[in-house]
Amino acid sequence: MHVLLIEDDLDLGQAIVTALRRDGMSVLWQRVPAAEGLDRERIDAVLLDLGLPRTDGMDLLRNWRIAGWTVPVMVVSARGTLPERLAGLDQGADDYLPKPFAMAELLSRLRALHRRHVRQASERWRVGALEIAPKDKLAWIDGEPVELSAREFQLLEALARNPQAVVSKSTLGLRLQPLGEPLEGSVIEVHMSNLRRKIGASRIRTLRGVGYQLMP
Ligand code: CA
Repeated sequence: MHVLLIEDDLDLGQAIVTALRRDGMSVLWQRVPAAEGLDRERIDAVLLDLGLPRTDGMDLLRNWRIAGWTVPVMVVSARGTLPERLAGLDQGADDYLPKPFAMAELLSRLRALHRRHVRQASERWRVGALEIAPKDKLAWIDGEPVELSAREFQLLEALARNPQAVVSKSTLGLRLQPLGEPLEGSVIEVHMSNLRRKIGASRIRTLRGVGYQLMP
């Protein structure tokens, strides 16, 4: 899971980045919001502070929603009155966590946000006989654990986010290398071939020149 954190406070920002990374997430931290170089395709969720230098988080949020960006957004703000929280939710936030907060609650809410976004009911995602636990990087088929490398697990998770949809190789390349250059197609093919060998080739359909699809 790849999180965009927009927070100008140095100490709080560092604490959040550390906690998210410890929880297995990758984080892009902007102390001053910048659209340049931001690949929205790669962002799974946004943590948004409101009181920011030169801009207001609510304006950012409004603009994202007007532009049709549907990413889950959790506002994390010192503005904690009921009218402020309602305004945030009504203008497009998916969750609103007033400061100060407990880091454990921020993590739980973030996981819940992501779970809803990928339409899963629990922290163990189910696709047919396949189950995966993204937080713990574990997978099972018919209840039996499957040993996967980190890359194989990332591939499986990327496919499971939207089962029965065809995911292109370039999208997989971005998901596997969220904060750097996309992974090359040939490298993905190697990992994909290993993944198919481990979970059963018939579970992943290859559409030549189009992409891959996880079958239920
Ligand atoms: Ca602030």
